[in-house]
Amino acid sequence: MDRFLRYVKIDTQSQEDQTTVPSTRKQLNLANLLAKELTALGTQNVRVSEFGIVYATVPGNLPDNSRVPVVGFISHMDTSPAVSGANVMAVIHKNYQGGDIVLPKDPTQVISVDKNPILKEMIGDDIITADGTTLLGSDDKSGIAAIMTMIDTLGQNPEIKHGTLAIAFTPDEEVSGGIEKFDVKGFGAKVAYTVDGGELGEISNETWSARTATVTFQGKSTHPGSANGIMVNAMYALADYLERFPHDMLPETTEKRVGFVHPYAGTIDVETSSLKILLRDFDLSGLDAKEKLLRDMVTQTQAKFPEVKITIDVKEDYKNMKEVLKDFPQLTDNAMEAARRAGVKPFLNPIRGGTDGARLTFEGLPTPDLFTGGSNFHGKLEFNSRRGLEKTTQTLINLVQIFVEKNP
Ligand SMILES: [Zn+2]
Repeated sequence: MDRFLRYVKIDTQSQEDQTTVPSTRKQLNLANLLAKELTALGTQNVRVSEFGIVYATVPGNLPDNSRVPVVGFISHMDTSPAVSGANVMAVIHKNYQGGDIVLPKDPTQVISVDKNPILKEMIGDDIITADGTTLLGSDDKSGIAAIMTMIDTLGQNPEIKHGTLAIAFTPDEEVSGGIEKFDVKGFGAKVAYTVDGGELGEISNETWSARTATVTFQGKSTHPGSANGIMVNAMYALADYLERFPHDMLPETTEKRVGFVHPYAGTIDVETSSLKILLRDFDLSGLDAKEKLLRDMVTQTQAKFPEVKITIDVKEDYKNMKEVLKDFPQLTDNAMEAARRAGVKPFLNPIRGGTDGARLTFEGLPTPDLFTGGSNFHGKLEFNSRRGLEKTTQTLINLVQIFVEKNP
């Protein structure tokens, strides 16, 4: 808790569409602090890369460390560009007794039991929120605090046996630039976990398979005063295309394992209009079907607007990490056992998004995601709790021991 409260005070908001990594220099303030603390905790090979990624190694304490795979633990330092992370004033609601939580600096910001039924399981806990003017930064400073406290605990309790651990804290997860600079080989782990998930017990070994489509409508612009019979206004074709989206296949009408298509940005102009569309599904066959749907819609709109030239371009964003992780069932099994031993009921939750771990998984480092205890990421209603932080930390400590037990 003390560590967490210290880390959230440091503004590490990342920024979209930057050409550098990290996208904001201020993330280095936390990176350098963590490097210093890692050194003080006795970890080895501590370094901050030119991209602001912090790496360290916790040496194993077994007679033969080589029998246990090097396990990696990764959290991200940046907070979402969506809401300010400057001057975060954490508020501790001690010994929570139920009911809605009104944030002190903005009474319109209310964490309601209605929308957050998890609160019912948090009676007696110390709940941590922001003051209503910023996000909290539990995403993902909870993960960082848990990993740092695990390292501290292992250092102080040499009777806890563990193999070699690889540690990394990354910038720019929220704007998905940081992980591209990750040195998988130098990291040295055989398997890893991102500690970046939600409520206690949530373990994820699945992400979307994701593509992005760009549909371009090419018309013909001319002076409107002399446009008769000449002008071809591309935006009408775009409007027709947009009308064809099935209403039951959108982010606002789907949940759980059901995928979607999501037109999310575009430009309208007489000469050239364009639309960007996210395609998301857990199964590649479902994703293919969505791509076919978008292409069929192009054919239909094209037939109606023969003078507009319509093209569609689809690119792959990332694939469901389950395609790889299905061959490493022990990673999820060990994490579930670690949670159980901490008194937490584990459950598998497919992520309706991508993770840095998904990318690492396809680069040869299998990396499922573990819970942090946090809720309401990327907003002013974000919260976590003392129990959330402590159970997450305990789970990590159990996990490194389970890897020793399972590799006798
Ligand atoms: Zn996160």
